[in-house]
Amino acid sequence: MQKHRSDLHAEMSLLTEFEESHMAKKYMNIYIYKPGLIVFSSAEPCPMCYIRINTAGCDTKYCTPGPDDGMASHADYLPPAWKEMAEKHKTSLGLCSPVMQKIAHLLFYAYLLDNRGPK
Ligand SMILES: [Zn+2]
Repeated sequence: MQKHRSDLHAEMSLLTEFEESHMAKKYMNIYIYKPGLIVFSSAEPCPMCYIRINTAGCDTKYCTPGPDDGMASHADYLPPAWKEMAEKHKTSLGLCSPVMQKIAHLLFYAYLLDNRGPK
């Protein structure tokens, strides 16, 4: 859960931690990831995460579609150059059991239960 940082979504934290690790040199060409890396996410990436993942050069598999802010299903709203860049990488629903999809969905909405969500 992010606290006092609007950018610390799981995908953002994952990529930042990875890029700061010693493993990054093996899997990156300066700031672009080498082909074949996939981000596995519990929920469909939001616009911010979607753009960062695709800019970095990763494909994405997610477990459950996001609510209205899921970007994979809204890529047509991006400016043409961003859409073209994003379409170089696949963002798709992964093969998850219904139980995993339900868990991912509930985890995503859990923030609503501790007064951080919309009032
Ligand atoms: Zn996000």
